[in-house]
Amino acid sequence: MINKVVLNSGEIVYKKGEMALSFYFVLKGSINLIDENNESNFAYKQIMPNSFFGAYEFFSEISRSYTAVCLEDVELELVDKSNIENFVSRNSIMSFDLLKQLSNELKLANEELINKSSTKIFNNDKEFMISKIEDDFVVETDRVYRKAIPKEHVIYLFDKEVECPVCREKFKVNQIKYSKLKLKVKLEDGRKIYDGIDELWYQIWHCPLCNYANFQNSFYKINNKVREELREKLPRNVSELRLVKTSINDVFKDYFYLSRIINMFSNSSFLKARLWQSIVWLLEDVEDEENVNKAKRILRGYYEDAWFNSTEYINPNDEVKLTMKIGTLYFEDGDIRTARDYLLKGTQVKGASKILKQELNNRLISIKKIYSNKKESYNN
Ligand SMILES: [Zn+2]
Repeated sequence: MINKVVLNSGEIVYKKGEMALSFYFVLKGSINLIDENNESNFAYKQIMPNSFFGAYEFFSEISRSYTAVCLEDVELELVDKSNIENFVSRNSIMSFDLLKQLSNELKLANEELINKSSTKIFNNDKEFMISKIEDDFVVETDRVYRKAIPKEHVIYLFDKEVECPVCREKFKVNQIKYSKLKLKVKLEDGRKIYDGIDELWYQIWHCPLCNYANFQNSFYKINNKVREELREKLPRNVSELRLVKTSINDVFKDYFYLSRIINMFSNSSFLKARLWQSIVWLLEDVEDEENVNKAKRILRGYYEDAWFNSTEYINPNDEVKLTMKIGTLYFEDGDIRTARDYLLKGTQVKGASKILKQELNNRLISIKKIYSNKKESYNN
């Protein structure tokens, strides 16, 4: 005898804070776990058919951490103390999955604890790997950085439902409330710093089901051929979908998938530069100097490729900005002569704005000063 529960779309299975006297196995439909404490109601996880939810609280004998809402009409199997032995003896394979999920949740809870107590921002024993596939670079995410999501992000976010163009499943993404966004400062390298939120954490949408990822403004722009290929190649997750980020490692994961997808389908040096510029900034945020420098060289390569080989149209202002970006990257790397050469290329671009030309000249003057100082000290 199984203890079956049938509910309609929108109905609540349990509420946050209630005693956890049971857990559930999803026979049909799917469930959202929602955190109702925040200013906005965030979907934390989406539970798919043939998986469990509520088990961690049940076994830990703690109250519900989330509210469970039916996303569609669902059929659940309810398991509690009175029928758990029966459930386990009936479903040995399912019990194995249950154990796996429980140990996973324990690991996550543990990581969160370490995150709170440690002062070091990352462990050196694991690599942030950058590898080369054909002509392009992709990132791996072995290194665990201890940077939890800043609490104030929540104020600037809302849940938005999107349909994945590859697997056609619907899932929720955290989207920035752009109307609330306030620019604090624009740094010299072009990075925009906003009050209370970091755009880099949310500019990529990543389907948690099939792992398709793209910049949000390009998310739907894929053709049928690419779609078919991605359907075959991308690894699939099926049990539960994590819908919110808990640390910067989740952000790196998005970039990890995006770097692979761009590697497979894009020839645009500008797109690759945008990807690597974001990676450079994120690595700066976790103070991983060694990898910042590696990533900066890769970024420089894509910018140079864009400058010399790209057939995409760029307007004169962007052309000047490009020479400034490449020049600055060479400058930071200690190669002042090449930095100067790129800035000089910028001065030859016709039709750029006066302000930009002025900025370019100022940089050129300061670089020339450093260059001649170096020469003098060398001659003396
Ligand atoms: Zn998908």
